[in-house]
Amino acid sequence: MKFVGVDIGGMSVKVGIVDENGTILVKRTATCHPERPDSEIVAEIAALIGDVISEAGVRKRDLAGIGVGCPGSVYDEKGIVRYSCNINFRNTPLAAGIADLVGIGHVKLSNDANCAALGETLFGAGKGAKNSVMVTLGTGVGTGIVVDGRLLTGNRSAGAEGGHMQIDIGGRECGCGKKGHYEAYASATALIAETEEACRKYPESLLAHTAKQCGVDGKTAFAVAKCGCPVAQKVVKKYIKYVGMGLVSFANIFYPEVIIVGGGISNEGDALIKPLQRYVSRGVYGAEYNPKIKVVAASLKNDAGIVGAAALCM
Ligand SMILES: [Zn+2]
Repeated sequence: MKFVGVDIGGMSVKVGIVDENGTILVKRTATCHPERPDSEIVAEIAALIGDVISEAGVRKRDLAGIGVGCPGSVYDEKGIVRYSCNINFRNTPLAAGIADLVGIGHVKLSNDANCAALGETLFGAGKGAKNSVMVTLGTGVGTGIVVDGRLLTGNRSAGAEGGHMQIDIGGRECGCGKKGHYEAYASATALIAETEEACRKYPESLLAHTAKQCGVDGKTAFAVAKCGCPVAQKVVKKYIKYVGMGLVSFANIFYPEVIIVGGGISNEGDALIKPLQRYVSRGVYGAEYNPKIKVVAASLKNDAGIVGAAALCM
């Protein structure tokens, strides 16, 4: 059986034909024009899907469905994108639009973080787990929760927004405009802000010198910490502590078999994952008596969105 997976981003749309083992058979990426009227964006996506189906040489009746992952607030059951920050979707009936234009009736839609979580849980770093939490550390913090093999999305799929979990009263301003949310401490954006702050405070440090020469991104503090700079090490330690605090909370609420860490920061590998594993192993309630929760880095990387979207139809 074959499925279509569609991963919509602010800058590009990725479409793949995926088999029941989560293997991508054909894949295409096209530039997205997020500022155009939503009906035109839907038509563009549908045209790309049509191209990929022809290229793969698959008959439409041999496709079990089309799964679509989209950033923003998505009403899964109705196939509607209520709102997306970076794309001009406002109460857009995306699933129905694609179904009409492509001529395949079975179209499922979910939030992109949910799709990534489903993909990683079924076919990636969480393979074999029935319960997982995926936390994506990027510009923001996305979360996807799988319980008993199914996505947990709350009433009208408005939930599973772990990035906006309150971890401080007042506190730093979040991307959503409110204060003290997890994302304001655990995102790559937060790490970059902390790195810049440390550079201002310690202008003679190796971190500050490196930042001056190469600029600052999410990798800077980790890279300089490895060279022994105590200022960078402090930034990294504090950042990992914040990420870890959130993981312990997810662990206490969902007690999954595995917590999957994705996004650009997850490329730091052991320097990130090992201390996070220690936080979870020591911090979770009843740690001495309950089964161990594994913390792992995402493994499907850029393909998680396509595979996870396709998995919505499996
Ligand atoms: Zn927030």
